[in-house]
Amino acid sequence: MHRDKSIDIFSIVVSAPSGTGKTTIIKRLMGKKRDFVFAVSTTTRLRRPGEKDGRNYYFVDEEKFKNKIQNDEFLEWAIVHENYYGTTKKEVDRIGASGKIPIFDVDTQGAKQLRGKLSNAIFIFIIPPSIDELRKRLNERGSDSKEQIEIRIRNAIGELKEYRVYDYIVINESIEKTVEDFESILRVEDYRSARNSLRIQKILEGYSDNPIEETGSICKE
Ligand code: 5GP
Repeated sequence: MHRDKSIDIFSIVVSAPSGTGKTTIIKRLMGKKRDFVFAVSTTTRLRRPGEKDGRNYYFVDEEKFKNKIQNDEFLEWAIVHENYYGTTKKEVDRIGASGKIPIFDVDTQGAKQLRGKLSNAIFIFIIPPSIDELRKRLNERGSDSKEQIEIRIRNAIGELKEYRVYDYIVINESIEKTVEDFESILRVEDYRSARNSLRIQKILEGYSDNPIEETGSICKE
C-alpha cells in the first residue's frame, strides 16, 4: 500500500506542450518491448470522441475531483487549460503491484510536484522545433479554435521556460526520431551506477574474498 514517502519505482515522467505529438510518441513507446504501462490520470475534462474511461483518463466531475483533493488521494494535481488533472496514489499502487514501468503524462506543474515524490524517475520534456512549427501543428490538428490555439501557444511558452525541471529535452522533429531519442535515453539510464547495485551485489556474493571490504573501493588498483 502506498504511504506518503518517496516512491522508488523506476518510472518515466513525460511532459510536452499541447500539440507536440506526445500521445503518439507514448503509444509508440508502449508498443516496444519494454514493460511500460500508462499511468491513467483523473480529469474533469470532457471525454473526446474515441476516448475510454479507465484507459485514456478516469473522467470525473469537478465535485468528485475536489473530494479526492480533500481526501488526499492525489500524488499530484493541477489545473491545466481550465480543467483539473491529477495522478491518484491508487493508480501508482496499481502499477507498482504489476511490477511494470509507469509512464506519467503530466504538465509542467505536475512534473514539479512529482520531482519531490518519485525518487527513481527519469523526467523527459518533449518540445517542438519552434513556436511557428507548433502553431502550424495545432492548426493542422483542427481540434481547437483560433483563440484556443493562441492560449495553448501562450501556455507552451510558459512551459518551455520550465525546462530545467527535466533531466532530458527531446526536440520532436519527427515521431521516429523522437522515439529513437527516448530509446537512447533509456539505454544510457541502464548504465547509471544507482541502477546497478543489484548487479554489483550479485558479482560480489559469488566472491568470498570481497574486494570492497578489503579496500573500501572496487576501483582501487
Ligand atoms: P489533454 O486534455 O490534452 O489530454 O491534456 C492536457 C494537459 O494535461 C497535457 O499537458 C497533459 O500532460 C496534462 N495532464 C494529463 N494528465 C495529467 C495529470 O495527471 N496531472 C497533471 N498535472 N497534468 C496532466
